[in-house]
Formats: sequence, C-alpha cells, structure tokens
Amino acid sequence: MSQLESPLLNQVGGYIDGQWVHSEGRSIAVINPATGDHLADAPDMDADQAQLAVESAERAGQRDIPIAKRRRWLEEITRLLNDNQSELARIITLEQGKPLSESASEVQYAAGFFQYYSRHLDRLESEPLAEHPHQLNWTVHHRPAGVVGLITPWNFPLAMLAKKLSAALAAGCTTVTKPAELTPLTTIALWNLLQTLDLDKGRANLVIGQPKPIGEVLCTHPAVRLISFTGSTEVGRLLMASTAPQIKRLGLELGGNAPFIVMEDANLPNAVQALMANKFRCAGQTCVCTNRVYVQASVEKEFIAMAAERIRLLRVGNGLDAQTQIGPLIHRQAFDKVDRHVKEALSHGAKRIVGADRPRPTHDWGAFYTPTLLSNVNSKMLVSQQETFGPVVAVQSFESIDQIVELANGTPYGLAAYVFGQNEREMADLIGRLRFGHVGWNTGSGPTPEAPFGGMKQSGFGREGGVEGLLEFCETQTVARKI
Ligand code: NAP
Repeated sequence: MSQLESPLLNQVGGYIDGQWVHSEGRSIAVINPATGDHLADAPDMDADQAQLAVESAERAGQRDIPIAKRRRWLEEITRLLNDNQSELARIITLEQGKPLSESASEVQYAAGFFQYYSRHLDRLESEPLAEHPHQLNWTVHHRPAGVVGLITPWNFPLAMLAKKLSAALAAGCTTVTKPAELTPLTTIALWNLLQTLDLDKGRANLVIGQPKPIGEVLCTHPAVRLISFTGSTEVGRLLMASTAPQIKRLGLELGGNAPFIVMEDANLPNAVQALMANKFRCAGQTCVCTNRVYVQASVEKEFIAMAAERIRLLRVGNGLDAQTQIGPLIHRQAFDKVDRHVKEALSHGAKRIVGADRPRPTHDWGAFYTPTLLSNVNSKMLVSQQETFGPVVAVQSFESIDQIVELANGTPYGLAAYVFGQNEREMADLIGRLRFGHVGWNTGSGPTPEAPFGGMKQSGFGREGGVEGLLEFCETQTVARKI
C-alpha cells in the first residue's frame, strides 16, 4: 500500500500484459531527497518478470495497429498529461527533489512529445519512389522496429520516458519500460493513467527493479530489437557490449560535459541570464547543463561579477516550497561527488567567488548543495573533465577562437554546447567546428519535441524529438514490384 496519497498512485506496481504485478517479499523504498521521508515501496521485479513482459510485448507486436488508432492514443495521452499536470508535478518533486515549477514544466514538455508525434504520424505512410530503376515500382515502408526496451534515468523521470514512449507508440512498437530505481513513482503514475486507455494488452509493459537482471533480459532476449537508453556513458557502453552478439539496434542518450562560451562582443546580461536558467535547472543535474564556462579574457571579470550577483541570490530548499529555486541533489553520493570536484579545484588554485565551506551533511538525504561559482579553473580539474552534476559554475578564460575550439572539444563527450557572441561569421565558423549534437547560439535553451536532439562522440547516437526521433523506432523496408 502506497504511503504517498495520490489519485495517480492507486496502484503501485509493475504492469505486464495489461495487469498490475508486484514482487513477492521484495520492494524498493522510494525516498524524498529533500526530507528523507519514505514515500512508498515500489516493486523489485526480477528477470522472470522481465521475461514475461518481453513475451507479452512480443505477442502484442503480432498485431498491426492502424495509424489512426495510434494517433488517438497519442492525443489521449497528451490530454491525460495536461489534465493531471499538477499532480504529476507533485509526484516528480516528491521523489526527485526539483522545484515544483520545474516539475510542471517537465510535464508540459513530456506532453509536447506525444502531441508532436500525434501531428506527424503521416510521415510513416509508405512512400513510392519517383524513379523506376530496373523498370520496377519501388516503395519505402516504415515498419515498427519490434519490441523495444526503454530505460530511463532519475533526473527527468517523466520527460526522458515521454520522448521514447511517444515515438515508440507512434511507430507501432510494443514496449518494455524500466525506469530508474530512485524515481519509479512518476512512471507508475503514468501507468495509472495509461491503464484507462484502450491500449492493447502488452503494448506498454512496465518493469521496476534491479538494473542488471532486467537489463540482461532486454539485452539478450531475441524479441527485443531495439533498446532506447538515457543515462550514463558507462552503462551505455555496457549495453553496447551486451547487445552486440545479437546485433540489436540502440539509441543512446548519454552523459555530457557542455561548454558555455562567451565571446568578448557577447551581450553579457543575456549570457548571464541564459547561464542561470541553463545551469541551475534541476540543481545542475541535467545532461545538457553547462559544465564548463569559458569567457574571453577581456570580459571575464565583468561576466563573473554579474554572475556572482545572481548566484548569491538563489534560494535552496525543499522543491515543494514556492520560494525554492534549487532543490536537493538526488542523494548523498551526488553531494559527495560535487563536493569532491569543488575541493579538488580549490586545492589546485581555483578561487571560490560564491559558495560555502560548510560541514557535510550527516545524513543520506537533504543533500542541499550551496550554489557555487569558481574562477581560475583549468582544464585538468575534475570540474572540467567530468560531469559535476551539481550547482557549480566553473569559469576559465580564453583568448582566441582556435583556443576555444580546442578547449571546448577537448572532451570525449559531445552533447550540448552554448555560444554567445554577435559576429555572425565568427560564430557560424565556431559552431561548425564544435563537435556537439545540440548548440544554443545566444541562448541556453535545450531540446524541444519539434527538433532532433542527441549526442556526438561518447554522448551517444540516435536522435530523440523531430521526425528523426520517430524514425529511430522504425525499420525501413523497401519493396520492389514488377510493373
Ligand atoms: P545510469 O546510472 O546510467 O542509469 C540510467 C538507467 O539505466 C537507470 O534506469 C538505471 O537503473 C539503468 N541501468 C543501470 N545499470 C544498468 C544495466 N547494467 N543494464 C540496464 N540498465 C541499467 O544514469 P543515471 O545516474 O540514472 O542518470 C544520469 C546520467 O544520465 C548522466 O550521465 C546524464 O548526463 C545522463 N542523461 C543523459 C541524457 C541525454 O539526453 N543524453 C538525459 C538525461 C540524463 P537503476 O536506476 O535501477 O540503477
């Protein structure tokens, strides 16, 4: 029985073959990261249950669902998300920690993917080729990829799944979803809504539990033809290795290390405003969050002073409090990692302009990290090398375009980058040389349902959003017919 009272958590379980399922004698405690409160016990399902979910999805995949019906599903899910925005937002904040306003935006953003694909399903109609090579009629069909495994992280428990599930349902796939153990309640709430639709049995299965056994089933069961994964590069690498024997397709949305580049002719107030919105969302725990700030030397001092003024004013607290701008980090280990990065930078010559040398928390929850601004950072420091995933702005200066291209690209990651400057030719040249899948030019804006988004290099491959995101869940079949 759920301890968290919510009309969207009447059922707290997994979902297989159109039925709610539980795990005998095993459960996962879901904890509020702001308070340490025990919110609910989610099921801890095992490999056998994952296997049943895949088999159910495989059976459902035998049925071809007309495009009109898929469109109706997507429209209804859009409506359900919009109608239940505030309750979903409350659940996200309770289990993830982010401020309520951000959670509400996450629900809207998630609904946007279902809506976008409901409007673009016509792209899946078969297309005759204009040419007739070999005197044949050629037609290109977009078939469903088959059973797909959807694995999602804790930082956007609804949005990261919405990107995948919307495109998978649109493409006619059947699905097995595995959410993050830390934030399963949002996904369960979504299934409380999905169960009210006329989705056929096995179309949308939900398996919650330990990642290894469930992941292994998804990686090795021959019916699963595609795994769409959002999470760390480390786990992405593991999935590549585990699926290689069966040559499965993968969509990998992995970690980032986003540079934020400010040229001397940039509109500085605009750049600072963009940094604040981009960097501190979800307490700095987003894949597209700025991780490294590079400011051209001649405007560095001014930029730092403006940013410091804003960062000092940020209000940290429980996400349910309307005043809160920054919630807790997801858990104590996350706090320790951010703390380690900052201390290492300070010990190697970085200067703390804003922040606090406060005692470490003595508990595993309420891991509120004071927003921090560091200057004098260099590329060898952990804050530059790794995703810090916390509210830390680490600034270093640069002199020339060639130098900044080298610094920005000097990472194995290639997800998002942001550039600020007015010189059209110089900026176009800079952007063309950056190896990042998403670039914001004079904006800190991240992805949107209408545009393809994804990484280069070790940030992964495949795209989510846009028509490209829909085609990720399709197999192309070409039919050549004798005239
Ligand atoms: P994670 O540890 O890789 O976990 C992501 C998901 O993978 C979770 O559901 C996790 O389950 C599961 N998982 C872990 N080990 C697995 C295995 N052996 N087989 C199958 N599944 C497995 O990442 P995270 O810490 O949740 O998320 C943070 C990372 O995600 C950051 O690096 C961030 O940059 C990245 N991210 C990328 C994007 C993007 O669009 N590129 C978006 C958001 C986040 P458990 O939770 O049960 O361990």
